[in-house]
Amino acid sequence: MDFSIVYHEDYVAPLPDNHRFPMAKFALLRDLLLKDGIVKPKDIYTPELPSPEDIGLVHNSDYIKGYCEGTLEYRVQRRIGLPWSEALARRTCIAVGGTILTAQLALQQGCACNTAGGTHHAFPNYGSGFCIFNDIAIACKVLLEKGLVKKILIVDLDVHQGDGTAYIFQDDSRVFTFSMHCEANFPGKKQQSDFDIPLPVGMDDDGYLQILAKHLPDLLSQVKPDLVFYDAGIDTHVGDRLGKLSLTDWGIYRRERMVLSTCLAAGYPVATVIGGGYSKNMSSLVYLHSLLYRAAKEVNC
Ligand SMILES: [Zn+2]
Repeated sequence: MDFSIVYHEDYVAPLPDNHRFPMAKFALLRDLLLKDGIVKPKDIYTPELPSPEDIGLVHNSDYIKGYCEGTLEYRVQRRIGLPWSEALARRTCIAVGGTILTAQLALQQGCACNTAGGTHHAFPNYGSGFCIFNDIAIACKVLLEKGLVKKILIVDLDVHQGDGTAYIFQDDSRVFTFSMHCEANFPGKKQQSDFDIPLPVGMDDDGYLQILAKHLPDLLSQVKPDLVFYDAGIDTHVGDRLGKLSLTDWGIYRRERMVLSTCLAAGYPVATVIGGGYSKNMSSLVYLHSLLYRAAKEVNC
């Protein structure tokens, strides 16, 4: 059976030459998935812009307005790490729409994968670390608001802690936040997720996968979520510029297969987002992101 992915051509917004954020990867990922037959054109869904009210379920109105209009204070804008443009503001919003749509598709079909998203360092009134609006947090609130779900589990395996998400849901028992990340990495000041597993620098495939295999089944049976959001950041890879772990291509593939098969075999729908990935080698980077979708195809989403 096929599974759905979500993509919009506005996921790629122009950035200045040599900017560290690998913006081209989103379109190249879509191209690779089609070329390798992982998805067919009919499996690609196109998101719509979310309403300001949807974004306002998480972010405060001054921040939303300031960002969308390009009028944030210099200090606040600078912390985001991406230069403001109208195209980037649109891209930010459409990616949030993409994660909302991905979640809705996952509830209908069992598994769906956005080809953007995972902006987990965004807080209610500021962004940081290339994150502007917190797409997973907004999608959680939209689904809860609409009564589509009562309980959500966020599995955040990006190499960086999901600090914004942890902060947003710190007093909300409807959303359980789980983050497994490198302990000695951005953000300098960690927040408290419902469950954090900080990992030592340089951890390899076997160490990493053993820890995940030990905790994930228990987390699912403890939380019993109506939906799992999976942030599949591949900045855990040994070749990543910003991560400090040592996972191989095969280790990442095994991770994706473990997360998807554990959730789906137990009957929990999964919505995935792409998360971080900062290898200088674009074709390797796109291939690493594609492992999630290859795993989704293999576990027969
Ligand atoms: Zn990251």
